[in-house]
This record gives sequence, structure tokens and C-alpha cells, in this order.
Amino acid sequence: MDSIKESNDIKELGFGDHICYLYDDFDRYRKFSINYIIKGLLNNEKVLCVIDKYPKDILIEDLSNNNIDVECFIELGQLVIVSNRNVYSRNSGFEPAETMDYWKRELKNIEKESFSGLRTIGEMDFALDGTLDTIGKLMEYELRSNTELLPLYDKALYSCVFNKSKFPDFVLADMVKKHNVVINDGKIIKPNPYFIAPKRQLQIFDEKKCMKKQFSFDINKSYNQLNSYNNKNNIDINILKYVLKTTGDGVWEWSNSENGIYLNYSFYKMLGYRKKDNLMKYEDFLRLVHSEDSRKFIDIVNRCYMNQTDSFNCEVRLKKKNGEWVWVYIKGVPIRRDPGTGKMIKMVGIFDNITEYKNTKMELLTILETTADAILVVNNNRKVIHFNQKLVDMWKLPEDLLEEKSDKKLVEYVKSLTNSPDDFSLSIQEAIDNNIDRVDILKLIDGRVIERSYKPFLVNGKNKCGVFSFRDITDQKKSKKLEQKVLIKQKELEKVKKYEKLKTEFFSTISHELKTPLNVILGTTQLLDSIQKEAQRNEVEKIDKYIKIMKQNCYRLLRLINNLIDINKLDSGFLKLDLKNYNIVEVIENICLSVVEYVKSKKINIVFDTEVEEKIMALDADKIERVILNLLSNAVKFTGENGEITINIYDKGENIIISVKDTGIGIPQDMLEKIFTRFKQVNSSLSKKSEGSGIGLSLVKSIVKLHGGEIEVRSEFEKGSEFIIKLPVTKIENKLTHQDEIAIASETNVERIHIEFSDIYS
Ligand code: ADP
Repeated sequence: MDSIKESNDIKELGFGDHICYLYDDFDRYRKFSINYIIKGLLNNEKVLCVIDKYPKDILIEDLSNNNIDVECFIELGQLVIVSNRNVYSRNSGFEPAETMDYWKRELKNIEKESFSGLRTIGEMDFALDGTLDTIGKLMEYELRSNTELLPLYDKALYSCVFNKSKFPDFVLADMVKKHNVVINDGKIIKPNPYFIAPKRQLQIFDEKKCMKKQFSFDINKSYNQLNSYNNKNNIDINILKYVLKTTGDGVWEWSNSENGIYLNYSFYKMLGYRKKDNLMKYEDFLRLVHSEDSRKFIDIVNRCYMNQTDSFNCEVRLKKKNGEWVWVYIKGVPIRRDPGTGKMIKMVGIFDNITEYKNTKMELLTILETTADAILVVNNNRKVIHFNQKLVDMWKLPEDLLEEKSDKKLVEYVKSLTNSPDDFSLSIQEAIDNNIDRVDILKLIDGRVIERSYKPFLVNGKNKCGVFSFRDITDQKKSKKLEQKVLIKQKELEKVKKYEKLKTEFFSTISHELKTPLNVILGTTQLLDSIQKEAQRNEVEKIDKYIKIMKQNCYRLLRLINNLIDINKLDSGFLKLDLKNYNIVEVIENICLSVVEYVKSKKINIVFDTEVEEKIMALDADKIERVILNLLSNAVKFTGENGEITINIYDKGENIIISVKDTGIGIPQDMLEKIFTRFKQVNSSLSKKSEGSGIGLSLVKSIVKLHGGEIEVRSEFEKGSEFIIKLPVTKIENKLTHQDEIAIASETNVERIHIEFSDIYS
């Protein structure tokens, strides 16, 4: 530093001043120091610099630059530059009494060395070692400087240097009160209006309580500043932060030397005492602890004391003034130990009233124990936090399993009881990972069915733990199954009832149908009888006619009985196809040819047309014949005079299509679906000219189905109908005897036509 330009009027400073120098600009502090030191040297004062932040070599250089023969002053013993370590923070830590002795020795030397006085400058950064202990000692030390040092020698001047950005406010505030001169940002404040007279200081700040007082006054304010501490001792900083942050709840400090516990105001308030913060003997404290909790409390105190643990952590009941019990959570950290034995010298901590929490916990536990479900609570690390007796009973958990509080063995055990063990562990992990509610069913080997539900516990949006609840729903499941069975049986019963009704209806129709032709036959035989009695030759024609009527009605009965037999066979599954390879075109054409004569008498034109002449395929010729005859008889039945019936065969390769089309009365749209249902007739009045039972088409459909085919109907009311049969073309190996088969079929055709056409009056 070349020249001193700072205009600090340090002339104002003199013996008897105890200066609090506050800075946050190092250069300003540097300039002040040089001025301050030079002034002392020129005044024949002994100048003692206890510095570290201002490096010794730079100070020497700065002084030399200001024409000071530094070497000479040092040799004379007038200028002493030492480190903090030599004065304040010695090996065993800062002890105010030791430092006081150091100064006292120096003051005595000055008298011998014939200096005009003593001028000191000392950086106080050493107090920032992160412990409240040292800060407390600094406060004590400054107080003693005022009361013990200054009055001792009236030719002394002390300057204590504080870096404002590093010291907490409460320390700075205290320092301001304890120095009669303050220099803040280079500005000298003399006299210092905030200075408290040493006597008063002594009154207020009892040496032993100095630090503790600060606890309850300025700590919270200072917390943020502490964050900026640039200190090596991080552990202590954390302890300090912890203690400071939690002062709202209550602070305690245990000191070996005092064999007592300092407890602040909120402790006494919690127990219902009016007392302010005070020291309580350890024995007295123990008397407050509930007898059931005292063992664990003493145990943890001893372990902390003997350096077996550094974490003091317990929940105890303390007796209130009114005799009630209050649950208190006590946490602490040893902050000083004997370097030799490791025994605890000092411990600080907090306490908290957790009565409400404990009561709630008790209530919850009671609820858990009285619920019908088995409950298991696990945390994120899959550790069992809680379970109830129901869980033990439900899973018949062995005792050793319960002692280990890891859910792994528990899961393994429970898994072994389930039917699908892999699903079990998978779903438990899934539930925890996905952090969602879920419900699933576990089936146990012993036949029980357990409903498991999982609900995560969210703390601040994070999954902390989850609750599994298990409910035995075996009985519930059983009754549900039974219910289902009853339902099925009921449906079956309804079906049977419906069928019974249908059967009754069917029999009443059939008996009516059987009666009609029988009555006709009966009537005709009576007629024949009377004719025979008065037989005349010319009545042969009449007899012929009646025999014909009888024949036709016999055919009708035969047809009806045939259909009934077939329906019965169909129902019982006995209607089987006798499949042989035929030329289907020939089969159909033969049927058509055979009815031509019959149809002619009805004045209806019949046309047969085909796309192919031959299509060999496997079919039951008898049954196909009945199908076609049935369709043709219907067509004739419902087609008036001069109508036309067209039979077409289309070859679609894999299928053959047979169409029977008429120009008759047609079928109303709403009946199209129904005519294939048994006993359905469109309208009896429409089919007045002919008879029918409504079995024909249902049989037709069944036969077509047996052949693997389909049948459909298209019709326009009063214009005509078309029945379309689609049959798949299949063949039977080594049975190419179709010629013979067709010949046999055509022989029986006439009889069959009579039967199938018997419903139509001739
Ligand atoms: P049914 O023995 O009474 O003829 P079907 O099962 O053969 O019984 O026919 C059922 C009903 O379908 C008939 O009663 C009739 O109302 C109607 N039906 C069948 N074929 C035709 C057709 N070609 N034209 C008009 N109506 C028809």
C-alpha cells in the first residue's frame, strides 16, 4: 500500500478505547490498520497485532511502503505481529481466561519496557469455528476485557476486528454493546451510544448464561447468516443449524461440569411451571421421568456419555405440575468430548411435546387391532412398520418371522401358501412401484380366498409407506357360486316350461290335423256303405271318387305321421343322412318331371332350367326329394290358376344353388323369418284352399342344414316367393353308383308325390 489516503480521523482514538471495528471491505480494513499501527509506533506505543486475514508479509510490506523500518521496530519489541493461534485459539481451543492472562502479562511488560502505552489490533475470526461454545466464550471474553483489562491499565487501546459478512447478527449486536467505540464502514462512532456500562453488563450477562441467553433471543434471526459460514468444521455447523432451527420447540444443554441440564422456558411451560429457563439437576430431571421410561432414558444417556453412540434419541413421559403425563421427544448431540477418555463434556439438543402424536398413534393402533381385516404396513424400503394380530392369525405367522421386521421373509412365507406364488410377489412389487391403490384376489392352497388391497401413504406427494389389508372372502365366494348355480337352474327350468307349453300346443294342432282327414275318411266310408246298399251300375264313378278321397286323406295322414317321425328323429338326433354320389341336376329334374302332370291339372305352368347338365355330389336323394317336393307342394298350394313355378339350378363351383320360385300370394315381410319355425303358418285364411300343419319348412331347413347347406326365402306379398337352397359340393369316394340310385328314387316318386301333395285338394 503506497500511501495512506483513507481519511479516518484516527486521532480521535486514544487510550481507554475498546474499539469494535466492523468491516466487509478488506481494503478499507487494511488502510485503517496501517494508519492505526503507524500512529502507535510514532507515539512510542507497543503495537500488538493478532492477525491472520491480513497476511503478515503483506502488512510488513505495506508498512515498509509507508517508510516504516519494520525490522527495527520488531527487533526493539515495539511491533509484535502474531497469528490468532498464538493468542486466542490455542491447541486446546479458545479459553477466555488464558487469553486474559496473556494480555495481563503484556500489560505488565509495557511498564518494564518503558513504552508509552499498549495498542492492539486483533481479528476475531477465530470465534467462527461453528460451535456455539466458542461464540459464547467470545461474548464472555469481551465482557471480561471491559471489566478486568481496561481498568487495569489506563494506557491501553484495543481494537477488535469483525468481518461483518461472516459473523451472525446476534454476535455483532452483542459486540456493539460491549465496546465503547465502534468503527463501522470506516466511520468512527465515539462515544458509542449502544455501549452498556461494564457494571450493568455484568448484571445482565451472567458469565455462565451468556451463551444460553443468546439461544432464545437472536438465534432464529441469525440462522440464515450461519448458512454462509465458510468453516471447516461442517459437523458442528450442522449441529448448530439443527439446534438453532428447532429452538421454537425448546432447547436443552447438558454440561458435565455443572452436572445439570439447562432447560429453556418452553420446557417449564410444557410441564406447567412458571419458571424461566434454568438449570436442573440431573437427579431432579430423572424424577420427572415416568418409571416405565426411565430405564431406556438412563441407558441412552449412559451410552452417549461413554461415547458408545452420538445419537441421543428417545421418547419419554414426563410428569407435569398437575400430575398429568406429557409425552416428550428428546433429541440431542454431544458437542464436546474429553479428548483423552472420549467421555461427553457437553451435549445440546431439542425437545418436543408429542403427546398428541402419541395419543393419535394409540388411537390408530386400537383401530388397527379392532378391524376385521388383517393389516400390514410396509415402508418404501419394504420394511415392516406395523401389523395387527389378525394378520398373525390369518397367515398363522411363526413367531421368529415376526421378530425380523423385514417383509422379505414374510412375503416368502405367505407366497408358499398361495396357489400362484409368482403372481404374489410380482403384484406386491408392482403395487409399491406404481404407487397406486389396487385390489386383487389371492387363492390359497388350503382353499381360502383372500382379497388383498393396497393403499399407498403419501407424504408430501412422495410414497413413504403402504398399507396392505387382507380379507378372507372364502364364504362370500362360496355363496356367490351357489347363487350363480341357482340362477342357471332357474333358467333351465324356464326353458323346460317353455318347451312343455310348445309341446302341448303342438299336440293340440296335430290331433286336430289328424282328426280332419280321419273324419273325411269316416264320412266317405259311410257314403260308400250307403252306395253299396243301393248299388247300381252307373254309380261306379261315384265310388271311384270316394275311394280317391279316402286315398288322398290316407296320404295326408301318412305325410303328417312321416313328418312327425322325422321331427322326433331330428330332436333326438337320430335323423341321419344316407349319403351317396348323385348327379343333383338329374335328381331335381326327375322330381320336377314327376309333378308336371299334377301341376297341369291345377292350371299352373312349371318350368325347369339349369346352368349345368351334370353336377356329381354327395347327397341323400330321398331327403332332397322331400325338400324339393315340399317346396313345390307349397308353391302349388299358394299359387293360383295360370301361375308359374320356376325351378332353377345354378352352378357356383363349390356350391350348387337350387331356386324354387312361384308367382303366388307371397309372404308378408314380417313372416319371412318365422316360416321356418315349427308350426308357423302365415295366415290360415290365406291357405284356405289347402291344409297344412306348419312342420314342412322347419323339416326342410333341418335337412338342408344336415347337408351343410343354407336356405333362404325372398318374397313380395301378392307377387310371389322364391326359396333358395345353397348346398356345398362334396363327394364320397368309391361310390359312383349314382345311376342305379336315381332309378330307385324315381320309382317311388309317384307315391311320394301323392303323399307330399296330399294337402292340396284336387
Ligand atoms: P304347411 O304344412 O302349413 O305348408 P310349411 O312349413 O310348409 O307348413 O309352411 C309354413 C307356412 O309358410 C305356410 O303355412 C304358408 O303360410 C307359408 N308358405 C310356405 N311356402 C309358401 C309359398 N310358396 N307361398 C306363400 N306362402 C308360403
